[in-house]
Amino acid sequence: MSTISDNITAVREKINRVANGRAVKLLAVSKTFPNEAIAQALAAGQRCFGENYAQEGAGKVEYFREYYAQEPIEWHFIGPLQSNKTRLVAEHFDWVQSIDRLKIAQRLNDQRPSTLLPLNVLVEINIDNEPTKSGVSLDQLQDLLPQLRLLPRIRLRGLMCVPRADSAEVQKRKAFSLMKETFDQYRAQGYPFDTLSMGMSADFEWAVEEGANLVRIGSAIFGARDYSRK
Ligand SMILES: *Cc1c(COP(=O)(O)O)cnc(C)c1O
Repeated sequence: MSTISDNITAVREKINRVANGRAVKLLAVSKTFPNEAIAQALAAGQRCFGENYAQEGAGKVEYFREYYAQEPIEWHFIGPLQSNKTRLVAEHFDWVQSIDRLKIAQRLNDQRPSTLLPLNVLVEINIDNEPTKSGVSLDQLQDLLPQLRLLPRIRLRGLMCVPRADSAEVQKRKAFSLMKETFDQYRAQGYPFDTLSMGMSADFEWAVEEGANLVRIGSAIFGARDYSRK
């Protein structure tokens, strides 16, 4: 049986094999997994964790602030975010990767406690234009970015996407490379982007080859998710 620590080592090795010497941040997606699983990952040197549900994530952040106060953990919110949960997220997380409308960003900006650094944010792109998926289209991005830039308690760091789950390698690579192109385009326009978040357990090596510098890995580290445990 492989342990969480072995899995992290294996994922890091795979990333390094395709990263060509570039730095790629590994986000361990711990949604639905208990604090003990996160503690095992911490013991293996993992310091960045991703959560999808505000309540569950905030509870974990509080637990680790209390019992692992000496560990500098970075918490990323990566799930869909409703207005009534923005305060919880603004008060607990370091990053939000799933910004897809101005109203949510404004609420996070207004609710970010003055004792914390500005909230780091990524805009989520619905790169395959799936009707049921969250995220903005590339057209909407053009209108949204200048408005996000004006919010002082938010620090705009880049873009994120979740491509169609069932597409083949060639389609996934196309989506990832369109993301990279868009990322570079806005950087060239002066946006201080430094984070391109793409790639999950099933496709992170392709994402890194196409230019991702942050990958979000859940099941390849923690195993299959059991949503009844959430
Ligand atoms: C759950 C989730 C992941 C991790 O997915 P795996 O396939 O388990 O690696 C990454 N990104 C987002 C947005 C997720 O919701």
